[in-house]
Amino acid sequence: MKINTAEFIVSNSDVTKCPQDFLPEYAFIGRSNVGKSSLINMITNHKNLAKTSGRPGKTQLINHFKINNNWFLVDLPGYGYAKVSKKTKSVFQQFITDYFETREQLVCAFVLIDIRHEAQKIDIEFMSYMGESEIPFCIIFTKADKISKVKIDSHVAAYKKQMFANNWAEMPQYFVTSSTESIGKEELLSYIDEVNQE
Ligand code: GDP
Repeated sequence: MKINTAEFIVSNSDVTKCPQDFLPEYAFIGRSNVGKSSLINMITNHKNLAKTSGRPGKTQLINHFKINNNWFLVDLPGYGYAKVSKKTKSVFQQFITDYFETREQLVCAFVLIDIRHEAQKIDIEFMSYMGESEIPFCIIFTKADKISKVKIDSHVAAYKKQMFANNWAEMPQYFVTSSTESIGKEELLSYIDEVNQE
């Protein structure tokens, strides 16, 4: 798929105010600083569609972008800066869980993971929440240019192992990307295209 148009529609923290057009929706979420804004800018061919920031936790809203007039790309707030409490759900802001639990248009969420790091507790908790809530998601490994090709394979293998150790029966579909090197863009867009055609 080629992205011809990417149009900012609305930002808010209230899921009931999200666009009502019944277009398929794909959400992007991850720890602050994981490279989410850079990835969104890469796949949409924009320098500054999503605001990249050096300051973690800056973008705290649900941002809807209409792509090619036929699907929504949703940029969700970075997580990981709320106080961790015993209840997994409360780690994430209520409006994010409201979004996942009520947004019928959501086709798939992409959970972004920095490929350089071992599985982080909060990411595993978030994916467990998604699994338990039966919300379809894929993993996007980011910043692949920062490590060698050999290390990419071994880091993905280690991640799989850690997911199995956390009771996952199989690794979700995943993509390896780099926004600076434009790695993984075609694979990701082809996947969205295929799912949209189903
Ligand atoms: P966000 O907070 O998740 O939206 O992350 P940003 O997109 O703002 O990126 C956080 C930092 O990581 C910035 O300094 C980016 O330049 C850097 N970054 C993001 N993606 C990549 C990538 O693919 N490769 C490299 N080398 N740096 C990246």
